[in-house]
Amino acid sequence: MEYSKLCDVYQALESTTKGLEKTEILANFLKKIEDEPELVYLLQGNVFADYDQRELGISHQLAIRSISKTAGILDSDVVKEFKKLGDLGKVAESILEKKKKQTALFSKQLSTKKVVDNLTKIPTLEGKGTVEQKIGLIIELLHSATPQEAKYLIRTILGDLKIGVGSGILRDAITTYCFKPKNLEEKKEFSTKVQEAYDKATDFAEVFEKACKNQLNKIKLEPGKPVKVMLFPKAKDVEDAFRIVGKPAAFEYKYDGFRVMINKDEKGWIKIFTRRLEEVTKQFPEILEYVKKNVKGSSFIIDAEAVGFDAKTKEYTDFQSISQRIKRKHQIEEMAKKFPIELAIFDIIYYEGKSLIETEFKERRKLIEKITKEIPYKIILAKQIITDDEEEVEKFYTKALEDNQEGLMGKNLSAPYKPGARVGYAVKLKPEDKDFDLVITGAEWGTGKRAGWLTSFDVSCRNNGDLLEIGKVSTGLKELKEQGLSFEEITEKLQDIIIEEHGRKMKVRPEIIVTVQYQNIQKSPTYSSGYALRFPRIKALRPDRGLDDIATIEEIEKEVENS
Ligand code: AMP
Repeated sequence: MEYSKLCDVYQALESTTKGLEKTEILANFLKKIEDEPELVYLLQGNVFADYDQRELGISHQLAIRSISKTAGILDSDVVKEFKKLGDLGKVAESILEKKKKQTALFSKQLSTKKVVDNLTKIPTLEGKGTVEQKIGLIIELLHSATPQEAKYLIRTILGDLKIGVGSGILRDAITTYCFKPKNLEEKKEFSTKVQEAYDKATDFAEVFEKACKNQLNKIKLEPGKPVKVMLFPKAKDVEDAFRIVGKPAAFEYKYDGFRVMINKDEKGWIKIFTRRLEEVTKQFPEILEYVKKNVKGSSFIIDAEAVGFDAKTKEYTDFQSISQRIKRKHQIEEMAKKFPIELAIFDIIYYEGKSLIETEFKERRKLIEKITKEIPYKIILAKQIITDDEEEVEKFYTKALEDNQEGLMGKNLSAPYKPGARVGYAVKLKPEDKDFDLVITGAEWGTGKRAGWLTSFDVSCRNNGDLLEIGKVSTGLKELKEQGLSFEEITEKLQDIIIEEHGRKMKVRPEIIVTVQYQNIQKSPTYSSGYALRFPRIKALRPDRGLDDIATIEEIEKEVENS
């Protein structure tokens, strides 16, 4: 397919803010790409499936250099234009537009295949001299691009298409095109099916392909291909927890670590993924060893929490102390000694070639009990009681807190596992702490003593596929230096993901998740969510979490109602 055809669709999507219109436009386009389902990735502004670990890793500085080299102008000219327009995609468009008037810059028509080929090569490049090679691949594309194509190419490599298509709209478009629902009820039914298939596959191309052939039920779990984890709503108190998960229920320690999905394949390999589907096998050699030695089975997918403890006192520590291990590439053994981890297994969703997501929780728990050999401070099962007695739960709750854990999880004994969904099959019970996980969507340069650093951060919550701002945070960073959260470090991180710049302010790709503590929430017209967090401060950086994990507007509204 010609890339220009795809760009026309981008343009049409960008010109409307209405969800229904976007769905229609997308559904019509899906008809044209039924034989090339991978083009769905480009519609998502990506070249790989969501589960895929590969990243383009192109910073906006690299994009600036690619544009300047293509047009034969100085980087500073591109930066000047960027300061004016605030969007590098538009900058590329405008510069190429001018250039086009002077020379015949386009040599040949750009195809989607060529775009995908070049972009797919980028993550394979490693080591010295690769920056130039990466730029070379982008320039080659820009050389054949029309101004409009250049706009979307640059936005694609920066990971922000600005066409307002999130996973919800894509799911609805696939539902509309593949199932042609006749009424709202049918639409809901099919769209749930598409969503469930996506949560297993984390791959919209595969979902689109199978949906068109009416084969969504053929989408299977597969070790090595991370699935979206099940998420849990909050309960107010023990009574509320029982109301949601039923009686009797299982109550487990809610460990204050980070979630790992451990995948073992029949071929013998074991891989560890975080809940944002990033592979961290290399960072945690001890988890690999514990699982290899103490969990029976030739293939499985296990859901567990990696919990830190003090090597000397054996006291459990909080998430912060082990968070630095997640992104660590060097001195892994040393870090493992300094910040040891105990693995607390709490669920299993695949065993010996079979999916267990339809199996009742109590059966899944029995299975992990059967196949795991527990060794304290290495590998354990989540501490659990099964009861219908509130008092017993209260006691267990107190004990969990005394053991430095966050609280309890209450679980419905007969519930299936729902990948990706925040359903009431299990609830979390934590002492009243006022914090939310949010994503940084913007930042501002500091002034005076803080000049040269980004010191104020816009944070956003989630509303289906959209992000809504809910406040500005500028404090809490000093204490978090250990976690890579000093102003210097966060400035460095954010500079790599800038997508727009307007004077001292900028927008960044929504990638960095932080736990934000606040005093209360107020209604506010200043932010797109309609709310503002008062006295917010950053409590922790959450490199293990992704956009699915951040607070939703419903949760914020619930909190406002309850306070
Ligand atoms: P939250 O991060 O506050 O939304 O709470 C959910 C997280 O608690 C899960 O994603 C797990 O990482 C963690 N967790 C700790 N212990 C358990 C447990 N026993 N069962 C389920 N999740 C747990």
